[in-house]
Amino acid sequence: MYNFKDKKIIITGAGQGIGKAIAKKFAEFEALIAVCDINEEAAQLAAKELEIIGGKSLPYKVDVSNYKEVKEIVKKIAEDFSGVDILINNAGIVRDKLLIKMEEEDFQKVIDVNLKGTFNFTKAVLPYLLEKRWGRIINIASIIGEMGNIGQANYAAAKAGIIGFTKSVAKEVANKNITVNAIAPGFIETPMTENLKPEIKEKYLSLIPLKRFGKPEEVAYLCLFLCSEMASYITGQVIRVDGGLLM
Ligand code: NAP
Repeated sequence: MYNFKDKKIIITGAGQGIGKAIAKKFAEFEALIAVCDINEEAAQLAAKELEIIGGKSLPYKVDVSNYKEVKEIVKKIAEDFSGVDILINNAGIVRDKLLIKMEEEDFQKVIDVNLKGTFNFTKAVLPYLLEKRWGRIINIASIIGEMGNIGQANYAAAKAGIIGFTKSVAKEVANKNITVNAIAPGFIETPMTENLKPEIKEKYLSLIPLKRFGKPEEVAYLCLFLCSEMASYITGQVIRVDGGLLM
């Protein structure tokens, strides 16, 4: 169905959660995967898991918020893999607090990892895609970037920023056969959400029409589709995977 054999794919925050699920799906199609994560051990373990599935993969320790580091790692990946075809900007963090209690550092850190991290990797990878005149960029946003949320002004701002960034870059590179789309997940079961208070989880659950939380694989399936030739006429879009939470 999909042909990702030997496609060179960079996935950030791929050591666990949604990023790892995306990596596993590409591995099933024998892609070459650069597993990027700030957690070196998690990246190494994930890369080993991918090898078992069938993909070829290498782990890279990188802090997406550090532009210099990102530039160096992308250069190294492009050398190791002889190019780059697809970039998945997935790394993200939360620092939830009501604005009245939010420190400048809580705001800055969330912007730096989620939004600037997306800029850093896109900027560093784009020359390789332009050279090939083909490419796919997927930015993992969130429905929170579209609807806002109590305690998440920093995260909502970062994710809304990713949506604006996605649309702008999509317009800039469309004539080079490169598509840029955003995926906006709702509530997905990953380490990021597992420690939320039971009452908060219950509240979300009551609002989700499909009456369950999403699985990381359900985000990964959309990612596969958007990176395939079947999605060649889709760019600049924000597509939700949220069980109908935001309509
Ligand atoms: P997760 O389980 O926390 O995984 C995120 C991964 O990114 C972790 O391995 C984390 O490492 C890594 N990371 C954090 N900061 C980094 C940095 N500066 N540089 C490189 N890697 C870094 O999160 P997830 O739930 O899979 O979320 C993945 C993406 O989906 C995020 O962008 C998130 O905002 C978005 N999203 C998630 C949900 C959800 O319900 N889970 C909903 C909407 C959107 P450490 O563990 O060491 O920090």
